[in-house]
Amino acid sequence: MSTCAQKPAEILEADIVIVGGGAGGMAAAIAAKSNGAGRVIVLEKLKAPGGNAIFPPLPLNDDDGIPRFACMDDNRVKADDPRLSPDPRVRADANFNCAMEWNHWRGDARIIRALVDKFETNSDWLKSIMLPEDLIPSPEDMRGKLARVLTKACKNAGAEILCETPAKKVLKDATGRVTGVLAETKDGKTIQINGNSVIISTGGFIGSQELMNKYFNYADDNIYDDVCIMGLLHTGDGIKMAFEAGAASDGTVAFEWEMNRMPWLKNPASPLTNLLNNDINPGIMWVTPQGERFADEAKMNATNSIYRLKNKTFYILFDEGQKTRILTEGPDYSLLPDILRGIPLFQGVEDELQAQIKAGRIKTADNWTEIAEWIGCDPEVLNNTVEQYNGFCDQGHDDLFLKRPNVLNAFRTGPFYAAKSTLAMLVTRGPLKVTSKMQLVDKKDDPISGFYAAGVDIGGTDSDTYACSAACHSIGWSLASGRIAGENASNQGKR
Ligand SMILES: Cc1cc2nc3c(=O)[nH]c(=O)nc-3n(C[C@H](O)[C@H](O)[C@H](O)COP(=O)(O)OP(=O)(O)OC[C@H]3O[C@@H](n4cnc5c(N)ncnc54)[C@H](O)[C@@H]3O)c2cc1C
Repeated sequence: MSTCAQKPAEILEADIVIVGGGAGGMAAAIAAKSNGAGRVIVLEKLKAPGGNAIFPPLPLNDDDGIPRFACMDDNRVKADDPRLSPDPRVRADANFNCAMEWNHWRGDARIIRALVDKFETNSDWLKSIMLPEDLIPSPEDMRGKLARVLTKACKNAGAEILCETPAKKVLKDATGRVTGVLAETKDGKTIQINGNSVIISTGGFIGSQELMNKYFNYADDNIYDDVCIMGLLHTGDGIKMAFEAGAASDGTVAFEWEMNRMPWLKNPASPLTNLLNNDINPGIMWVTPQGERFADEAKMNATNSIYRLKNKTFYILFDEGQKTRILTEGPDYSLLPDILRGIPLFQGVEDELQAQIKAGRIKTADNWTEIAEWIGCDPEVLNNTVEQYNGFCDQGHDDLFLKRPNVLNAFRTGPFYAAKSTLAMLVTRGPLKVTSKMQLVDKKDDPISGFYAAGVDIGGTDSDTYACSAACHSIGWSLASGRIAGENASNQGKR
């Protein structure tokens, strides 16, 4: 039985209580403190703060003011893309348009406007809270530094982070105003933290089978066996607590995906992951377990077509020619993003490939019939698929799915390869309904006094498909929403 039913062993008084010490929560804490908040307590469920902010790159702008880690599109981005304009206003407008197009205007335009505008100030804000030694670029900028920067900045700003202290319940008074939370300490005691405001930022619900089945109607019963979940298995705690406290759902949910992944290759920096990933290597071919193509492999949104497949399982095919081409020529991006510049994408790939062949996870053969037998499909179907694809490559036009001609390379140079793959899921987004100040609303659409949300728990941003083409979405928006929530919560009055 939860100890939260017991009388609290301790009552703490704070100005702002933040549930979740990840990107949104820590950004909120730092922003609230610099906006004059009194005591700010961040409750973190895990042993250390960071949440999924341990994964993304440090989202700073380059010296020219342009976001270093800008946006993703088919073939990445072109030099004249307005999302990379030197003018922040032009960039913000372009990102606004991009996000609204991706959500088909089912998102909340005011929330998106607030996020794209705030996002433009993230880089300067981050630089202002970073210690001089952290401003020196390092390989960690790609992964790991962001969470450490936020943790240090919380400490420097005077925000307290209580780890291994999950929030259990949001408290309200008779007027409906949020007054604090109940939490559980690591030794099982219930504590009550009173606050003028509570901010929820618990990182989504990808680890909750119940919520996954509720919001994603393609979800198979055994979704965790089928897909490759690449982040922390957050269980939607903040979303459930907010609903329990009367917050409304926005109705918009999406999950963030990351192209295709091999469940047995979880390291996103792995050279073999890069070789087999359709974002970096769109010249690969995808087939169903029956041996038929099902998508334009060079399209970012083709990831959604994996979602449609039974058990989200498919096979990546390539030949020695395609392998050599990508290893020698590199990705075909018209503009190589800074995050990939200078990074040895394929160093050590051959060793990794041979190890996986030995382990039986990748099949190589001199003919497609053997590959078909390994997949378990009809060799005639697979041979026809490859023959048809090679014909499309010869004529420079994919009659089926219109894959762009510059990545249509026929597979005629043995040995041939096949790898089993699946959908990669990162985090969920939504569905808490907030205002553009990140204040939660009730079912009548009235803002709930003292109650805010940030990060991926908020809805109104993505619907149907995660808008990965908007600049720095999602970490940029998680930080932006946290900052907005923290600033507004700190205007509620001080304790
Ligand atoms: C593998 C991976 C790679 C990614 N790469 C990128 C990228 O390249 N670019 C990009 O833009 N974005 C990326 N993201 C997304 C980015 O990490 C998220 O946008 C961001 O971390 C979300 O912030 P958040 O505060 O909502 O959640 P998190 O940062 O996950 O923080 C949530 C925190 O809440 C805590 N918590 C949960 N329940 C409770 C509770 N009951 N009480 C107290 N604490 C609780 C969790 O332990 C966690 O620390 C990636 C995500 C993943 C998983």
